[in-house]
Amino acid sequence: MNAHDGKVALVTGAASGIGYALCRELHARGATVHAADLNEAGLARLRQECGDRLVTTRLDVADEDAVRDWIERAAAERGRVDYLFNNAGIVVGGDFEAMDRAAWRKIIDINLWGVIHGSQHGYALMRRQGCGHIVNTASTAGVMPVARSTAYATTKHAVVGLSTSLREEGRAHGIRVSVVIPGLVDTNIFSTATNIGGHDYDAAIRKVPIGKISPQRAARAILAGVAANRQYIVFPAYNRLIVGLSRAFPGVM
Ligand code: NAD
Repeated sequence: MNAHDGKVALVTGAASGIGYALCRELHARGATVHAADLNEAGLARLRQECGDRLVTTRLDVADEDAVRDWIERAAAERGRVDYLFNNAGIVVGGDFEAMDRAAWRKIIDINLWGVIHGSQHGYALMRRQGCGHIVNTASTAGVMPVARSTAYATTKHAVVGLSTSLREEGRAHGIRVSVVIPGLVDTNIFSTATNIGGHDYDAAIRKVPIGKISPQRAARAILAGVAANRQYIVFPAYNRLIVGLSRAFPGVM
C-alpha cells in the first residue's frame, strides 16, 4: 500500500519544473492528481507519462472564477480534496526603477493573486470537509532580500505572510497550511524570466556559487515536509545559499 493511495491532490504550475515533478511523485505514490497549468504541451506530456488517475486542466491562476471552478469540480468528481499545491509562479527580474505598472501587475496577478485564489477557494472547500492541506510555494526571496528581484521578493514575502497566518486560522478547523521555501531548483523559471531593463536573470542566477537540486529531489523534499506538517518546508540548498551569501556579503546577511 502506498502512502498516498486514495488521496486527491491538486497542483498548479504542473506543466514544468517542481509542479511537474510533484505530480509525478504524488501519482507514483498512489494519489489521484488534478494538474493545472497554462502550458498545454507540458500538461499533455504529463498525461502521457502518468496515464490513469491524472486529470489535466488548462488554467490561469490569475483568473479567480477559473480557479474556483477547478477546485470545486475536482471535489465534486472525487468526493474531496486532500492536498492543494499552489505552486505556479513566474520570475520578473530587473532594476527597481525600470519596473513599470504592467510588470508589477503581471507578477502580482500570478504569484500573489494566484496563491490567494487557490488558498481562498481551497480553504472554503476544506472548511466544509473539516480537513485538508494547503501547500503554497514561496521562495528564499520570500524570507530574505534579493537585489534586482524586488517584485518577485514582494510577492514571495506576501505568500509567506499569507500562508503562516492562514495556518493559524486553519488550525481550529483541521486545515493544515505549509509554505515551501525552495533553494535553487533546476527548472525553466530563470530562462523564461521576464527581464526588465536589460537584466539577464538566467545569467545572474548562474553566478550564484551553489548547486541547484533537481525538481525530483525538490518534490520529494516537499512531500516529506507535507507528511511532517511543517510550517516552512525548506530545502538543503537553502542553507548553502545563506552560507554562500553571508560569505559574499559579510555583515549584511
Ligand atoms: P517552472 O517555470 O518550471 O514552472 C512554473 C509553471 O507555472 C510553468 O509550467 C508555467 O507555465 C506555470 N505558470 C506560469 N504562470 C501561470 C499561470 N498564470 N497560471 C497557471 N500556470 C502558470 O518553474 P519552477 O521553478 O518549477 O517554479 C515553481 C514554483 O517554485 C514557482 O512558484 C517559483 O517561484 C518557485 N520557486 C522556484 C525556484 C527555483 O529555483 N526553480 C526557487 C524558488 C521558488
